[in-house]
Amino acid sequence: MPFATLGLRPEIVSAVVAKGYTEPSPIQAKAIPAILEGRDVLGGAQTGTGKTAAFSLPLLQRLTQNNFKTKRPRALILAPTRELAAQVHQSILDYGKDLSLRSACFFGGVNINPQITKLRHGVDIIVATPGRLLDLCQRHEANLGAIETLVLDEADRMLDMGFIHDIRKILKVLPAERQNLFFSATYGKEVKRLADTILRNPVEVEV
Ligand code: AMP
Repeated sequence: MPFATLGLRPEIVSAVVAKGYTEPSPIQAKAIPAILEGRDVLGGAQTGTGKTAAFSLPLLQRLTQNNFKTKRPRALILAPTRELAAQVHQSILDYGKDLSLRSACFFGGVNINPQITKLRHGVDIIVATPGRLLDLCQRHEANLGAIETLVLDEADRMLDMGFIHDIRKILKVLPAERQNLFFSATYGKEVKRLADTILRNPVEVEV
């Protein structure tokens, strides 16, 4: 099955083809149509399955469809580590290269001031680790009141790393009405509890 049949716009399909992908991976084939429809998704997927593109491609497409003008971010992707956040952000840049969406990647251990400057200029998509994002929120620099889609990537690792309290504080400042995409390689008790509090009638995608 070619990518073009999933309902993605030509600019996105050409960016994917430029990366050398010929067809969607199983998780992409299942998740992309559901995400495009606006559904919540519960994904069980390890790294290497193509889960980043599975959420990034339809997320980018939805942001270009509802071309709502705001300086505030409209999509938020949370990741457990700076390495994963940077990797996901690079994918967003690659897949979105022909779309005029602005994205930023925020993690701790680096100077916060350039991150604040970026937010003041306006971004559409934030990829972040929970601790630094919360810091930016508490300084009133990140306003998450216009978030339309939330992605939790590697939720199990975020819990293992002790981010549950930060995640709960972030959830409190998001609009109640939003799309939620939840990915985890494992589904222990804590992960299930978090998924249950976040997701509404999700499509389950297992690979
Ligand atoms: P991920 O599971 O998102 O970390 O992706 C694993 C690797 O697979 C990355 O290097 C992607 O660039 C690559 N990839 C993602 N989707 C596809 C696809 N449909 N065809 C070939 N490679 C892909």
